[in-house]
Amino acid sequence: MKIRDIIGQEKATLSFEVFPPKKDTDFASVEAAALGIAALRPSYMSVTYGAGGSTKGHTIKLANEIQEKYGVPTIAHLTCVCANKDSIRTALSEMKNAGIENILALRGDIPKNYDGQVFTDFAHASELVKLIKESGDFCVGGACYPEVHPDSANKQDDIANLKKKVEAGCEYLTTQMFFDNNIFFNFMYRIREAGIAVPVIPGIMPITKRVQVKNAVKLSGCNVPERFKNIVDRFGDTEAAMKQAGIAYATDQIIDLLANGVKHIHVYSMNKPEVAAGIQANLSDILLV
Ligand code: FAD
Repeated sequence: MKIRDIIGQEKATLSFEVFPPKKDTDFASVEAAALGIAALRPSYMSVTYGAGGSTKGHTIKLANEIQEKYGVPTIAHLTCVCANKDSIRTALSEMKNAGIENILALRGDIPKNYDGQVFTDFAHASELVKLIKESGDFCVGGACYPEVHPDSANKQDDIANLKKKVEAGCEYLTTQMFFDNNIFFNFMYRIREAGIAVPVIPGIMPITKRVQVKNAVKLSGCNVPERFKNIVDRFGDTEAAMKQAGIAYATDQIIDLLANGVKHIHVYSMNKPEVAAGIQANLSDILLV
């Protein structure tokens, strides 16, 4: 089923993201975690992709298994750094053969110590979006950044570039993580004012370990509110307490988003079925309203 049809329905949606292993030897444990999340029967799931195609086989296999075994529609992520049109066409045909109908089109982060050519046929995700739309009947999404993509000089440029991605055929957007909902609401105001009308799905990251805060800030440059810093300071040394507090904080963020008109929530569940289950249980009645 296409994501555009799932989010086009009246019902609120809750979806989860998983990431594939880099090594074959880790596949079984990741598969068990991903299927554990699929067993919760979320609205859909997404499977990330190693920039440069490093996880292509695992991404496709996981996305296919989630659909086949649990009937949960999947999105396969696809990146275009270090790729050319031929390698992307090959990936698309493998995805189609595996029954994948939804693709999140990404530029990808530039890998460190890569000795090949990073940008050949694609410089931006918008070019990938265009190629996917020309290549078949896929529903195509893209990424967006409420706190501005780190490569952008300023908010205006970032939004102008985002608009190009939507004009290339991107049908919905999923946000980078954020911990302060006001940043998301402000971003929504700005992009709607700029004429970007596609659905925007907030991506929520439950932080369940202290080290994740540092990684999140390093990866996305996101703002960590004082209220959340205090939570991590107080509970970060006790695994069970931090997990409970992280699930509660993410739940709180989601409830605030839903209360303010957002209908679709994507959770970066980081291959943790218990975290996905905790959030889903906290929202069981709320999502029905
Ligand atoms: P783009 O949309 O191309 O934007 C990248 C930068 O280029 C921005 O600064 C943008 O403003 C600028 N830009 C865009 N178009 C133009 C233009 N025409 N002219 C000038 N500048 C332009 N990474 C992975 O490797 N694998 C994944 O599975 C993955 N999943 C992700 C999922 C989500 C929801 C998000 C938010 C990110 C994900 N990422 C993933 C990370 C992503 O690949 C990086 O953030 C990457 O640096 C940018 O990708 P993009 O698709 O947003 O790029």
